[in-house]
Amino acid sequence: MTDLKKHFAVIGNPIHHSLSPQIHAAFAKETGLDIDYEAVLSPLDQFKNTIHTLITQKFTGANVTLPFKKEAYQLATTHSSHARISEAVNTLEFKEDEIIGHNTDGIGLVRDLEQNLDTHLKNKKILLIGAGGAAEGVIYSMLEKKPSELTLTNRTIEKSNVIQNKMDVHAKSFDVNLNVTEIAKCPHQYFDVIINATSASLINAELHMDPKVFHKGSLAYDMMYGKETSYIREARSQGSKTSDGLGMLVEQAAEAFFIWHHIQPTTRSVIESLRSH
Ligand code: NDP
Repeated sequence: MTDLKKHFAVIGNPIHHSLSPQIHAAFAKETGLDIDYEAVLSPLDQFKNTIHTLITQKFTGANVTLPFKKEAYQLATTHSSHARISEAVNTLEFKEDEIIGHNTDGIGLVRDLEQNLDTHLKNKKILLIGAGGAAEGVIYSMLEKKPSELTLTNRTIEKSNVIQNKMDVHAKSFDVNLNVTEIAKCPHQYFDVIINATSASLINAELHMDPKVFHKGSLAYDMMYGKETSYIREARSQGSKTSDGLGMLVEQAAEAFFIWHHIQPTTRSVIESLRSH
């Protein structure tokens, strides 16, 4: 008998914590699709083999998470513009003779900020902390929204410089002032939106940022989700609005769902349901 059900997976290492199977199951239920979506643990040196096994098993697509987004970019034979610019892939489509790589993280973050948190980026001043895959994956989507200023900062400032050099041409085309600053110099400026894209919260490490960087009226966003971080506590104590990254997670999944199924699922109820659990 032919298996008509479409199969998907999220691949990472570790992967047991992933909420993606739950999120895609909720989207499938809402839209009436009968799909199968599982979490796959790939050995660190076996990402390529893991993907080829899924292709052999006739999977339709896969999400990719830490630490394989760069490898997924290398493996893809065709790239969406967001994937090409960030050089990282979190969503794969397996077609007959090609592997298409997308990056939905930036779209996910921007939708969470603008649609769920009512924080529009046009003409705003943004501070982005971090220069790893997550930071690099979202910059282009933020530039597209034409903030007046996007300032990059990171513990290792050289990495912010590299990203600035790479993104400068795009910043100019969107008329955005793209800066790099050392973390210690941030308090002297006002930012409307301050985004923590570091993994410091994962290990409960402090960012060593002066709390004066947070202001009443600004939004402090932490891409981390699942627990209240010291970054969020600090921001709230200074009067900033705060949000974790759960909405971004659900919105980037919704964009992947749209790429695969051409149906836009509802996200708000999924975010609320995950938050209540
Ligand atoms: P990477 O490992 O690629 O980058 C880690 C970044 O964190 C680097 O900029 C690093 O700085 C910085 N960092 C790590 N430890 C510290 C510390 N103690 N103090 C200051 N800076 C530190 O990770 P990713 O960019 O892929 O992920 C970052 C975070 O974003 C993770 O928490 C991840 O879970 C989250 N994320 C959330 C998503 C969502 O949908 N909500 C999607 C994607 C990511 P340095 O360069 O100096 O080492």
